[in-house]
Amino acid sequence: MSSIELKNISKRYKGEKRYALSNVDLQIKDGEIVTLLGPSGCGKTTTLRLIAGFEKPESGTIRFGNEYIVDDNTFIPPQKRGVGMVFQDYALFPHLTVYENISFGMKKDKDLSSKMQSVLHLVKLSGLEKRYPSELSGGQQQRVALARALIRSPKVILFDEPFSNLDTDLRTTMRGEIVSIIKKTKSTAIFVTHDQKEAMAISDRVIVMNNGFVEQIGTPKEIFEKPKNKFVAEFIGFSNIFKGKINNNILSCDFTDINIENKENMSGQVYFSIKPSGIRINDEGNLSGVVRSTSYFGDYLEVFISYITKDKEILDLVCYEDPSKDLKVGDSVRFSIDKDKIVIWKE
Ligand code: ATP
Repeated sequence: MSSIELKNISKRYKGEKRYALSNVDLQIKDGEIVTLLGPSGCGKTTTLRLIAGFEKPESGTIRFGNEYIVDDNTFIPPQKRGVGMVFQDYALFPHLTVYENISFGMKKDKDLSSKMQSVLHLVKLSGLEKRYPSELSGGQQQRVALARALIRSPKVILFDEPFSNLDTDLRTTMRGEIVSIIKKTKSTAIFVTHDQKEAMAISDRVIVMNNGFVEQIGTPKEIFEKPKNKFVAEFIGFSNIFKGKINNNILSCDFTDINIENKENMSGQVYFSIKPSGIRINDEGNLSGVVRSTSYFGDYLEVFISYITKDKEILDLVCYEDPSKDLKVGDSVRFSIDKDKIVIWKE
């Protein structure tokens, strides 16, 4: 177990002008599960590889607990960092059994046998130790990869897109299983993913990255309730994002003016998002539009409403409605906006 701290980390690959990471500061607590989330090329894998010791930063320091593993005069090599890694393709040796894969490179003694039994039990592979990877399902192969990391009692476990080779159902099951194993072993774990739902499902805290920078760090709830800027909001799937202007307490955009409770005293140009649950179709609504499409999702009905802007453009809003509501494409509707379901950012 260990806390991890990255301070002012910058990284440029050989021959590249562009920084893969710029002045990254991160603090991960002992026993915490965090996820690096962001679009392709934002620097997630580079961050993981720097922590593992496969890459050297151009500047900055990395600390595990009180120990500096990277600073101006120190570079602790990967094998001495106490880091376990689980890769996207599991990186199992096809010609070795489950037992041999898990114990690869370890001393074959009594201690190993007892550790092996408890790890196999933990990852639910007891009885399968003589099988080869080709005789295992995708989920079982992933458990072998996890067992191989766990048996070495790492301070930190790094997971690079570990679920991307699994189909949707198994993905959800394995996510839950792996998180519960990590919590049982009280390991500190860092995942890399570009799937926002996955990040929210498994993490104590999520680190949203963009273009080599950290945009926001927070619990899934904090990030969902208050994405720091338009990039984070769009990346985690916010819809109904508009440009607007705040004057006194009035938020104006190209289709309406909304009286908001302006707690943060913002003014001037802003971006804002209306949560789909904040748009209500009702006969008393002050706005009007036409139903463009409806999709039934059991618990709710997703409705796209087309409306006309002040510049006579036709745009869409998405809202969630009671699934029992009888709404058809082409229906004219009135709707209102709940000011408490609006999130605002300075432009
Ligand atoms: P993905 O989700 O696609 O894996 P990522 O967020 O993990 O992306 P990185 O792989 O960390 O991103 O890459 C960050 C930046 O560094 C990218 O611009 C990438 O092209 C560049 N990069 C990564 N590895 C190398 C390398 N070995 N040599 C040169 N540039 C690299």
